[in-house]
Amino acid sequence: MTQLFRPFSFSQELIERAQLAEQRAQQALCGIGQTAAYNSRKVLHAFMQQGVSERHFLGTTGYGYDDSGRDTLDRVYAQVFGAEDAMVRHFMLSGTHALTVALFGVLRPGDVMVSVAGKPYDTLDGVIGLNGVKNGSLADFGVHYEQVDLLEDGTLDFDGITEAARRAPRMIYLQRSRGYERRPSISVAEIETVCKIVHRLSDRTIVMVDNCYGEFVETREPTEVGADLMAGSLIKNPGGSMAESGGYIAGRADLVELCAYRLTSPGLGKEVGASLNQNRNLYRGFFFAPHITGEALKTAVFAAALFEELGFACSPRYCEPRTDIVEQIVLGSPAGLKAFCEGIQAGSPIDSFVVPQEWDMPGYQDQVIMAAGAFVQGSSIELSADGPMRAPYIAFMQGGIVYDTAQIGVLMAAQRLADEGLVTL
Ligand SMILES: *Cc1c(COP(=O)(O)O)cnc(C)c1O
Repeated sequence: MTQLFRPFSFSQELIERAQLAEQRAQQALCGIGQTAAYNSRKVLHAFMQQGVSERHFLGTTGYGYDDSGRDTLDRVYAQVFGAEDAMVRHFMLSGTHALTVALFGVLRPGDVMVSVAGKPYDTLDGVIGLNGVKNGSLADFGVHYEQVDLLEDGTLDFDGITEAARRAPRMIYLQRSRGYERRPSISVAEIETVCKIVHRLSDRTIVMVDNCYGEFVETREPTEVGADLMAGSLIKNPGGSMAESGGYIAGRADLVELCAYRLTSPGLGKEVGASLNQNRNLYRGFFFAPHITGEALKTAVFAAALFEELGFACSPRYCEPRTDIVEQIVLGSPAGLKAFCEGIQAGSPIDSFVVPQEWDMPGYQDQVIMAAGAFVQGSSIELSADGPMRAPYIAFMQGGIVYDTAQIGVLMAAQRLADEGLVTL
């Protein structure tokens, strides 16, 4: 067995711990494989039904009229996500941009948006206008923001959501992934319950989901269970590590059209937008995405099992159900968080020789340390870890496009902690 870990110099004790951890996680790893198999076949079926062909990879320039590759990819996404329509564009720059396009696309002055999974992801503060800066945020345009906090235990407050839905706001907004909060991620079944409550009480309310990190983790997506609109990033799960940039929006056709008017121009919508030569990667990435998401999930499960074995609290636990790819590992000390991120970086295919340093990242109260050695800059479907330098010093780890090598990153993190005397093997 030991030779599987050559040429790396892990201690014999660590290799034994790793093997125990992997054995203990066997059931969870197996379940991930089954979900990936189901979702991969779902994607293959959509490629067949939409008649994806070599000519769809050619791409267009200029206005991008009659770009059948672009339009067919939209239909493939829509079919897989059980949505009426979708818009997949390399020129949506990130997850935040896709979410921004969707919010500005459908909300109008005087509308109310209620976030029901607590405060949304940090990068949306400026979009919603929570930071009070007058720079063209939703608040600047007269869109009101309200929030239903999560309960003490981090789960959805269904009573609070019911009350909010009774007031018939224009949008109920919910983030599936835990992001960088200490709370469980929200399952598709819970999203289904929210959609039922909201649609029963108000027919003017749109349920919108931030689906970042969630795609293909379960066998259903939010738009299959009643969500009206969702958005995500192509340098996370659905890009399958092949997309070099991009975002998507999927949902009700009338809403996707409004989003297209916002992304391009009212009246032009989805008719324009050259795909240049990005189509092949976007198709190939989406085709790989269920499998790649599975590799990332296996990496998270392995890390949870190993670090739990080493005495660190992990969330989710290796045996718990998952609905996003994020793993939180409580390192308990600044040195522990640093050593963890150094190990992940050292085990990455790109920039393995770089030593991550904590720094004052704009928009964050504490210093943040990040490990990312990826083929695509900032791609967090590739093995990556980061965390704010504050107690209890949690590493947020996600990604891993090849389980066999991502395991090496996780083991390097553990070995580094051991070398610095922060854990005994
Ligand atoms: C990553 C992420 C975003 C923002 O995406 P970027 O591509 O980093 O702009 C938003 N919400 C959640 C839950 C995310 O994980």
